Amino acid sequence: MSGDENIVSFNGARSSVQVEETNYEQKRRCAHRNLTLLEARRMVCCNDCGLTVDGFDWLMMYHKGEITLRNNSKHLQQEREHLFKQVEELKRERKNLKAAIRRNKANASKL
Ligand SMILES: [Zn+2]
Repeated sequence: MSGDENIVSFNGARSSVQVEETNYEQKRRCAHRNLTLLEARRMVCCNDCGLTVDGFDWLMMYHKGEITLRNNSKHLQQEREHLFKQVEELKRERKNLKAAIRRNKANASKL
């Protein structure tokens, strides 16, 4: 026995590979949090869309989402402080304008 019968030759073989998921990266992510842990397979399954991913991949996806939320929160907090300062400035301007109107009315009544 030479063992050649266990060798499969790919020379001249036509490719039979088909790509069904054109955007694999997109299909590996979802924003749902209704999950089932597949303990034996060490996988996480989304109950909403049926996505099944490796547990570590899901943890990384969750982590990246948390970082994005944290960054958005910081940005919104900065914007809130900026808008608060603008409101305070507008209140100060309104107060000054009311005082100017009172002065002008008093000057006008003297004429
Ligand atoms: Zn999902």
